[in-house]
Amino acid sequence: MFHASRKALVAWGLFWGLVASGAQGASLLSVAFDDPLGQYAAYHDEIALSLQAAGAEWMSLLDLGADTTLTVQVGFLSMPTASGASASASFDGSAAGISLYEQGAAAKLKTGIDVNGDDVDVRIYLGVDGYLQNELWFDPTPYNLMDDVVPTSQIDARSVFLHELGHALGFNGWRDDASGVLPASYASTYDALVGTLPGDSAGGLYFFGAAAQAVYGGPVPLTFGNYRHVGNAAGLVGDDLLLDLMNGVYFLQGRRYTVSELDLAILRDVGLASAVATVPEPETRWQMAVGLLMLAAARRWRMSRMRPV
Ligand SMILES: [Zn+2]
Repeated sequence: MFHASRKALVAWGLFWGLVASGAQGASLLSVAFDDPLGQYAAYHDEIALSLQAAGAEWMSLLDLGADTTLTVQVGFLSMPTASGASASASFDGSAAGISLYEQGAAAKLKTGIDVNGDDVDVRIYLGVDGYLQNELWFDPTPYNLMDDVVPTSQIDARSVFLHELGHALGFNGWRDDASGVLPASYASTYDALVGTLPGDSAGGLYFFGAAAQAVYGGPVPLTFGNYRHVGNAAGLVGDDLLLDLMNGVYFLQGRRYTVSELDLAILRDVGLASAVATVPEPETRWQMAVGLLMLAAARRWRMSRMRPV
């Protein structure tokens, strides 16, 4: 199963190794594919480019302690959209009898320690029942957000990768999606800051991290039945977060999503410090991403079609 991935990993790793030579303090992302028969080989290059651009955006915004390379494996499944998560979790102490774990990818970026050794750090899956083939749009120049417009009938792949990497970095946990109840004795650092709001008859889950509350102005409403995300559908609590990168309701076609102040604050709360005081404008951000690369080596949208995230 891993032969094809290993080959791709080596190829991209080599590329980034060349670009990164002489770099100081810059972390990078390498892409491998779990596509042993090469069925989706035609998409590999554009997936890798957009995924690396998404990784560069996150890394330009985070204060990373380690000079390391995050390996992301992309697989292909029969599923409606996409999913993503860290491949491991790293023990982060315990509180009130609960063992806390942070996402393995976050731990690696902070400390350089890879809790699952040589295995990949993040796994992202793309749906192949038309999502990859027809719905995703791959920006030919994903480090420049200003020179292309996302087609109004498609979803920006770079935005999808930003979202899935958000899960890998912190928006993840083991609470039951319906009840919000934790498993017996362990929780993610995200889980530890999630709870119900006293007196809230709707019974939704909220994120109580101090940095996130400071940005949002109070406990952050999480998506009903999908608490690893923020916001809810129009008319419900948190509908002001529908356009957030980490919303759990839909991704709009024809729209670029970027990391928000709130997303970054939530990651601060779960243990990943920010490199910036405030999130810069998108134009500045891609310049930062390009800058990071150099160091290391119109919005148009419509609401007619949406995709769950
Ligand atoms: Zn998601």
